[in-house]
Amino acid sequence: MTISFQSFGAAREVTGSKHLLGINGRQFLIDCGMFQGHRKATHERNKKLPFDPRQLNAVILSHGHFDHCGNMPSLIKGGYPSAIYATSATRDIANLIMMDSAHIMAKDYEWLQRKAPEKHAYEPIYDARDVLDTVNSFMTAGYHRAFPLPGDVQCTFLDAGHILGSSVVSLDLDDNRRIAFTGDLGRPGMPILRDPDPLPAVDYLICEGTYGDRLHDPIEDAKRQLGEVVRETAAKGGKIIIPSFAVGRTQELVYFFHLLKDEGQIPDLDIYVDSPMAVNATGIFRVHQECYDETTHRAFLEHHKNPFGFEGLHYISDVSESKLLNGRPDPCVIISSSGMCEAGRILHHLKNNITDVRNTILIVGFMAEGTLGRSLAERRKEVKIFGNPYPRRARVKILNTFSAHADYQDIRNQIAQMDLDRLRCVYLVHGEPEALIHLKDVLREAGVRKVEIVEQEQTYTLY
Ligand SMILES: [Zn+2]
Repeated sequence: MTISFQSFGAAREVTGSKHLLGINGRQFLIDCGMFQGHRKATHERNKKLPFDPRQLNAVILSHGHFDHCGNMPSLIKGGYPSAIYATSATRDIANLIMMDSAHIMAKDYEWLQRKAPEKHAYEPIYDARDVLDTVNSFMTAGYHRAFPLPGDVQCTFLDAGHILGSSVVSLDLDDNRRIAFTGDLGRPGMPILRDPDPLPAVDYLICEGTYGDRLHDPIEDAKRQLGEVVRETAAKGGKIIIPSFAVGRTQELVYFFHLLKDEGQIPDLDIYVDSPMAVNATGIFRVHQECYDETTHRAFLEHHKNPFGFEGLHYISDVSESKLLNGRPDPCVIISSSGMCEAGRILHHLKNNITDVRNTILIVGFMAEGTLGRSLAERRKEVKIFGNPYPRRARVKILNTFSAHADYQDIRNQIAQMDLDRLRCVYLVHGEPEALIHLKDVLREAGVRKVEIVEQEQTYTLY
């Protein structure tokens, strides 16, 4: 038996996850994410897949984040003949994310054609029709239910506790060896989702290391801090503006606000989720109750309550309704995307509220270099919105408690409880180089025999 492993994305970086396992001459692809960053640098990388999809024997998707599922339609377009395996919640989230991506690429292209018609190079990589074909190729399986892949390989999804439907992919080979891929690993104690399953005993582990050099604030503080921000801002007569990713973070916020209202810890103000994508994502969360943890079941479902709906909470899809929020004089909470303030309705809310000292802009997610969100997080005195400068008078408050990724202590705990005698090697992917170097040291100290930082496109022969 020969096993090899190659990464074509998310090697010493965090986007474009694509990991190819060769097992006895068969090719298994885990994830097919989009590279993110400047269009010029990423378009070609995304357009041309580094392998022939027609030669793949199976494709497995760990979870529905864009950097893991975003380029799946290129596989189908390129002639991949078989199924894409995932949990059903992952399929639904991926559907939403891929459709949104097709829509954004089409709009971008239209805009570029008007502005600079010579830029034909940036034609959309796929369209909505390709996404439909892709979604139609999914075969879904529940957690802990082994199912067969070609070549006598059994695949099992374990709960990764990262986002709704996320899984650790465990592959059992016919010689009793086992290889697992963590996908993105969540952290214990997150709202709504179950804690990550313990990683199983394996011979080889492909592990993410996004926060391989960082520790998060405890999630238990999130609800209390949210309550504090709302009380303080409402007392001043201000509004709370929260830029938030539509999938995951928004539902966590709604969940906490629901608890805070039920417990009478925040005043009776209106809370708006102003994002069509978040409205759709919340629909998916409502349907997939099989992914909820015990606390959520007990807090809501036993009383037939919807965790994502309560009095005073309003979901807004319509543009005209969104505009009506501008004229509101009284305190309220507005949750809107995009998460890094790069586009979307959040820009209008920031423009309308940033110059008022009574307001709070609440940052609950990672803000990449060069984004408006980063300028806000750095508390710059003046920021540009829609190309115009605005003085920032609103308070900026940052909560570091929210993160869907394990930090290095969480990863260490997960790996330390594995059968370390059996574990021959941990291959580290999905992280910036410094994070992976730190994580490698942490894991070596924890007693892992061999840890490799995976290089892009290098072939590793496992045995
Ligand atoms: Zn992820």
